[in-house]
Amino acid sequence: MKYYDKLIFELSKPGRTGYSLPAPESSSVSSIDANLLRASAPQLPEVSEIDVVRHYTNLSQMNFGVDTGFYPLGSCTMKYNPKINEEIASLPSFLGLHPLQPDDTVSGAKAVYEGLDSALAAITGMRHFTFLPCAGAHGELTGLMIIRSYHMSRGDTRRTKIIVPDSAHGTNPASAAVCGLEIVEVKSNADGLVDVNDLKPLLDDTIAGIMMTNPNTLGLFERDIKEIARLVHEAGGLLYYDGANMNPLVGTVRPGDMGFDVMHLNLHKTFSTPHGGGGPGSGPVGVCEKLVPFLGVRVSGFHGNFSVILRAYTYILMLGRQNVKMVGPLATLNANYIKESLKDKYKLPIPSVCKHEFVYDGLIDDGAREGVPGATTLDVAKRLLDFGFHAPTIYFPLLFHQALMIEPTETESKETIDEFIEVMRRIADEAAENPDILHQAPHNAPITRPDETTAARNPILRYQA
Ligand SMILES: *Cc1c(COP(=O)(O)O)cnc(C)c1O
Repeated sequence: MKYYDKLIFELSKPGRTGYSLPAPESSSVSSIDANLLRASAPQLPEVSEIDVVRHYTNLSQMNFGVDTGFYPLGSCTMKYNPKINEEIASLPSFLGLHPLQPDDTVSGAKAVYEGLDSALAAITGMRHFTFLPCAGAHGELTGLMIIRSYHMSRGDTRRTKIIVPDSAHGTNPASAAVCGLEIVEVKSNADGLVDVNDLKPLLDDTIAGIMMTNPNTLGLFERDIKEIARLVHEAGGLLYYDGANMNPLVGTVRPGDMGFDVMHLNLHKTFSTPHGGGGPGSGPVGVCEKLVPFLGVRVSGFHGNFSVILRAYTYILMLGRQNVKMVGPLATLNANYIKESLKDKYKLPIPSVCKHEFVYDGLIDDGAREGVPGATTLDVAKRLLDFGFHAPTIYFPLLFHQALMIEPTETESKETIDEFIEVMRRIADEAAENPDILHQAPHNAPITRPDETTAARNPILRYQA
C-alpha cells in the first residue's frame, strides 16, 4: 500500500484515534461567546498514530530536498543547511522568547541582531541593516521605499523612475511597481552585461536610481560597475543592489565598495537557512551611512523572522572570518568546473568565466530528425530526476529559449559534482541517440509529467469528498 496515494482524509475510519486531548474544563468552554461556537464537530480525519506517521513520512520522501540530493537550482543558491543552525535555533532560551517581553529580559536576542548586523556590514560594506523584511522581494520593496524617502526628504519629488536591466530577476520590476516607481529598462550588450552606452541617455533628474545584481542573473560580473555607479550618482540617483546573488562575492568583493547605497541579502540563500515552498525567509536591508536615518521603515510585525536570523548568524560564526572568505571562490570554482566540463554537449551562449552560476541554451545535439522531435531543456530536467539529481533552473533567464541555469554552490564535494557531470553527459548522449527516452522521463518518479499550468492556475486546495 502506498500511503501517499490517499489523502489523510481518505485514510479516516470513524472512531479511530491517534491522540487524545484532556477534556476541556467546562468553564473554559462556557467563557466563549455562544455565537462563536460551531454547531457541529469539525470533520477532522480519524486516524491512528501509525497511519499519520506513515502518511507524512512517505509524503516527505516524495519530495526532493537539499538533504536528499544535489540541487543545482540556478538563482536559488540551494546550499546545505548545517544542522548546527537547527540546534541553536531550537535552544529553549531562544524558542521561548516572546516579542512583547520586557527589553531587559532579551539581551541575548539583541546581541544576535547586533552581532549579525556587524558581520553583514563587514561582508557587504554597508553601514547598518534592518532585519524586518521577510524575503528577498520584501527587502527590495523596503530598499526602494528607503530610496524614495531619501529623495522626498530632500524635496526631490520628481524622481519616480527606476532603471532595471533586461536581465534582472523578475522580482525587481515587480517590487519597483509595488513601490509606485516607473520602470525603465536598460539593455544588455552582447557579453550579457549592462550596456553603459544604453544607460547614459536614461539618466536625468527623474531617475530615483538603478537596481542591479552583480554578478548578474547570467552569473557574469558587471565589470563596468564603478563607471555605472559614478554616472548614476552624478545624475542624483542611488544604486540598489539585489544581494540574492551575493554568494560568489562573500569574502571577496563588497557591494559597498562597488558604489551601491542600498541592498538586501537573502539569508535563506547565501547564509544557509532553509528555503523553498515559500517557507520563512529573511531579506535584511543594508544601507550606506547617509541612508541610516531612513532605516526605520516598518514593513513587518515585531523584529522579522528571528529564528532565520539566528540560523544565519550561527552559520557565519561557525565558518569564522577565515573560512567565510572561501565561500565565494569555491562556489565560483565549482560553477566554472561544470561549465567547462559540459560545453561540448550543451550550448554555452556566453563562454566567459562565470561566477556562481551560468546558463546553457539547450543541447548541442538534441537528436531531432525526420518525424522525431528533439529533446528539450524540460526533457533534460525531467531525465535528471531518474538519476537522483534535482533539475537546474529551466527557461530562466528569458534571454535564451532553452535556458538551463546551473548553480552548484560551494557545499558540494568534487565527487558529487563529477557524478552530476557524468549524468549530464549521459543524458546528452541519450538525447542524440534516442530522444524518446528523454521525452518520457522521469521513468522512476511517483508523478511524471503533471500539467503544470493547470496545477498552478486551478490548484485544488480543499478536500472534497
Ligand atoms: C531569489 C531571488 C530574489 C527573490 O527572493 P525571495 O526571497 O524569493 O523573495 C530576488 N532576486 C534574485 C536575483 C533572486 O535570485
